[in-house]
Amino acid sequence: MPKVRVYQLAKELNLSNKELIERLRGLGVEVKSHSSSIEEEIATRIKDSLAPKSEVSKPQPKQPAQPAPLKKAKPKPKTEPKPKPKSKQAEASEPEETETGKGKLVKLPDSISVAELAAKINISGSELIKGLIAEGQMVTLNQLIPYELAEELAAKLGYRVEKLGLYGEDDLEEEVYDASQLLGRAPIVTIMGHVDHGKTKLLDTIRDSDLIYKEAGGITQHTGAYHVETGKGHIVFLDTPGHEAFTAMRARGAQVTDLVILVVAADDGVMPQTVEAIDHAKAAGVPIVVAINKIDKPEANPDKVKQQLTEHDLLAEEWGGETIFVEISAKNNTNIGELLEMILLQAEMLELTANPNVLARGTVIEAKLDKGRGAVATVLIQHGKLSIGDAFVVGNCYGKVRAMFSDRGQRIKVTGPATAVEILGFNGIPQTGDTFQAVKDEKTARDIGRRRQEIDRDRNRRRTPRVTLEDLFNQIESNLIKELNVILKTDVRGSGEAIINNFAKIKSAKVKINIIHSGVGAVSSSDVMLAAASNAIIIGFHVDVDSEAVELAKREEVDVRLYDVIYNINDDLVKAMEGLLEPTYEEVITGHAEVRQLFKVPKIGVIAGSYVTDGYFNRNSLVRVKRNGKVLFEGKLLSLRRFKESVKEVKAGLECGIGVNGFTDLEEADIIESYLLKEVAGQL
Ligand code: GDP
Repeated sequence: MPKVRVYQLAKELNLSNKELIERLRGLGVEVKSHSSSIEEEIATRIKDSLAPKSEVSKPQPKQPAQPAPLKKAKPKPKTEPKPKPKSKQAEASEPEETETGKGKLVKLPDSISVAELAAKINISGSELIKGLIAEGQMVTLNQLIPYELAEELAAKLGYRVEKLGLYGEDDLEEEVYDASQLLGRAPIVTIMGHVDHGKTKLLDTIRDSDLIYKEAGGITQHTGAYHVETGKGHIVFLDTPGHEAFTAMRARGAQVTDLVILVVAADDGVMPQTVEAIDHAKAAGVPIVVAINKIDKPEANPDKVKQQLTEHDLLAEEWGGETIFVEISAKNNTNIGELLEMILLQAEMLELTANPNVLARGTVIEAKLDKGRGAVATVLIQHGKLSIGDAFVVGNCYGKVRAMFSDRGQRIKVTGPATAVEILGFNGIPQTGDTFQAVKDEKTARDIGRRRQEIDRDRNRRRTPRVTLEDLFNQIESNLIKELNVILKTDVRGSGEAIINNFAKIKSAKVKINIIHSGVGAVSSSDVMLAAASNAIIIGFHVDVDSEAVELAKREEVDVRLYDVIYNINDDLVKAMEGLLEPTYEEVITGHAEVRQLFKVPKIGVIAGSYVTDGYFNRNSLVRVKRNGKVLFEGKLLSLRRFKESVKEVKAGLECGIGVNGFTDLEEADIIESYLLKEVAGQL
């Protein structure tokens, strides 16, 4: 039986995909997505149902002549021609009226104190605490709670909740979300996939196919993003390399990508970074369109790729799933047009909008210091209009637009939503993921920039702690987390599976283990970024940590745990959940002293008259006694004195009397080493 695709029919009937799907469901026809197929008979029924009522119902009383009840008949209530100011209705029909918050919008930062939250959602602090305690959450007025918890509380009272940027930028621009101002906009797309599967080649081919680009003579500029005019619509491609950039932005609270193109080589199939890309996109809640590349190769096996991807919940629509797959050859320019069309189609479902009439706001995609030009950043403008001379703040920097360049390197004077532009005129170098916000004048920009620098200084104190195994119990007890997000890296897939199976044996009513990514190979920076963005811990089994990742984990305070025995993983997790995990310690050597003379002191024993050669000795130091490089004894200090006075600390270059608890067998020329045990978060 002939079949019709939903999106084709929607086009034909001049309906949005969403509307058509709703109508189909109204008829009892279950369709999964716009790319599902329906039988022609159903299509005819829909067409009929859209025809003027009198034409389809009942035996007809005579009518004045009417055009044939076919195709282009449009549903009555819809007045707009088609797409543009689309989501007007979508926005307006949102459930605005719920409980006490009455659907009001409240914007909350990354973390907020109970008192601040209470003020924002209009109840007294004590009421909020009472409510929290009733739910078993022991918090105090000044305690910081994470966004997720605050969101839940505000939502319960009927507020619509949005997350504020790092500095609460959104306070600056309330009217962005004025539904009546929103217009449709181009999708922002990121291409991800395993190395060598053809991401770069695909971008190049897409760029080469672009009409305007060709006319402009094809000057290749790397600005981190570029626009493609397909003839059917605009698409903005972010060409920040790697998955890390994608997640780095998310870690800074910026979500710019609307959809991800997952490139999988048909001759190679699903590889570790393919899985990583899927997990990153999923964690960000971004839809995926799969491009099976290299189908020109003789050994290409697209079906195998589809089969492999079913294991990651990406089911091709012809197999009953909802994921759009396009088989392409980036090299031979095969099906690239179709891929672009599918991107636009998927984007249409997302009903992307922007407000072009406000002060511009956007996100930094790339920033660098250019020798000749100073600080330069590519900013994706998401709302509003930006012109030369506009003042702005971005992260804790500020400035005034001195010059703007398009992705083709052309000077431009003004730009609008869903465009990426290179901007000059910053007072410092902003960071990838920083929010860019135009403000009314330079003074405002400067004031806000300075205030933010202060906030930054404060931030470390205010940050809610990241989840760590050591602190897990406390976080569970104060209900700060309900799920323990885990990233698992193993030597081979089999051990990964065994570990995951083992997790199922952990029974905790309070916290659920949620594997957000599992892969094979060393713990990489990309894993750490994902952990930071998703508040996860990383568990490594028989793997190392890349040196870059070690640094990053320290900076981002991500708990990375390495194991050699599977059993120990569960053991630690269970202990952590029960608050019984012993902290791990790192030894820090603080100094050395050389024994110069021995004194026998009645009742106390032997005191070593010593000279501190380096570092310092502290009353609380742990010590070890070494002779000819061998350790004779390890223990505690009994006494630390200078001129018979008991002292707290003795620094290098000074003499002192040292008594070692439980060891009297000291000799001249022995070396006493002083050390401390410092608690460390992860077991790197
Ligand atoms: P990336 O690491 O994902 O960016 O991969 P590249 O775009 O650099 O491509 C890796 C290699 O695969 C290059 O040698 C490309 O020329 C080649 N390649 C990319 N797409 C295709 C394709 O469709 N067919 C064939 N045969 N080779 C391709």
